[in-house]
Amino acid sequence: MKYAILVGDGMGDLPVAELGGRTPLEAAATPAMDYVARHGELFLLKTIPDGYPPGSDVANLSLLGYQPQDVYSGRAPLEAASMGIRLAADEIACRCNLVTLNQTTAGQVQMIDYSAGHISTAEARELISALDREFGSAPLRLYPGVSYRHLLVYKGDLAGLTTVPPHDHTGQDVTAFWQRYHAFPLLKNLLAETGPFLAKHPINRARIQAGKSPANNIWLWGEGRLPAMPTIAELYGVSGALISAVDLLKGIGICGGLDVINVPGATGYLDTNYNGKAQAALAALREKDLVFVHVEAPDEAGHQGLLKEKIQAIEDFDQKIVKPILEGMTAMDDGRGFRLVVAMDHYTPISLKTHISLPVPLALLDSRQIAVDSGRNFSEKNAQAAGCLLDSGPAFFNRLLAGRPEIS
Ligand SMILES: [Zn+2]
Repeated sequence: MKYAILVGDGMGDLPVAELGGRTPLEAAATPAMDYVARHGELFLLKTIPDGYPPGSDVANLSLLGYQPQDVYSGRAPLEAASMGIRLAADEIACRCNLVTLNQTTAGQVQMIDYSAGHISTAEARELISALDREFGSAPLRLYPGVSYRHLLVYKGDLAGLTTVPPHDHTGQDVTAFWQRYHAFPLLKNLLAETGPFLAKHPINRARIQAGKSPANNIWLWGEGRLPAMPTIAELYGVSGALISAVDLLKGIGICGGLDVINVPGATGYLDTNYNGKAQAALAALREKDLVFVHVEAPDEAGHQGLLKEKIQAIEDFDQKIVKPILEGMTAMDDGRGFRLVVAMDHYTPISLKTHISLPVPLALLDSRQIAVDSGRNFSEKNAQAAGCLLDSGPAFFNRLLAGRPEIS
């Protein structure tokens, strides 16, 4: 038996007036996902336990069969794993965004852009490396990642620090959150010097001249220590591979003992290499029991509040990921069968531009039990109407793996 979990990040949404009260998922043409829903089972999964923030970190841990309450220690340690950074027991990792802030001399801080205009990896690498050369020394180091997403590692304690994700505060006054860093002298000094240092860096001068958002400061969040996670093989006895463009997901895969497959041209947005991801997933399934494919684009469109782009991202996910993987698994099937799940990690409603923690719709197709067409397409509403709620990652994995033959 082979298993595929195909995740459209942030695909869920609320009814949109412009769409006559339909959601983007309902409005999009998604014949492949509809086939899975109509001939399989539809249900809801609670990916965000009560009291947890509705982030991709917590939600994707649930989609991989984990109980976030047992294993989640913050977002940044998972990203550190994906960047090959091994945290020592006394170190804390913080996600470090390059951001565009509006800072007044009176100390007011406004979040203009959580991504510094989706700054390129090459520009960002130069800025973060320059910051680390200038200010990084024990106990504080900076590590460049992809685009605006970087990492700060702090040897010591940040007890009492509660941070917020910058993408939840676009355009807002964030002075109160900024001042929280000031309780930690090393962070306070770093942040006070980072702004002026970055402002005069040639890369930012060139960005301003080109009409782009400057990366004029950093924003720290997602802090945590190394998670103690059993692997998915230890928990469920299945081997697996994970495919994603996003460091966070790769980190979850590494911590979960999955093979993390890097697909050239996987960007995390509408221009990602869909075909490469689908082919890599099918290749991985020749060796492994399970493949987990994550596509970021619907979430990014949701954060930007772009309706047309979100529908496009959902249709691309359907036609360029779900369809070829379903067809490929059907063609590869040696008679032992397969189960394929279409999923999302959380809702990213375009009207809210951020995540919310409603239970998400999932559809599960078993190739050996193709049901009579139920007439229910893959949608938020139809999954709610199906009346089955799984309350945790382990409940989902037990359902996915139920009745499986012994793993050879
Ligand atoms: Zn998101």
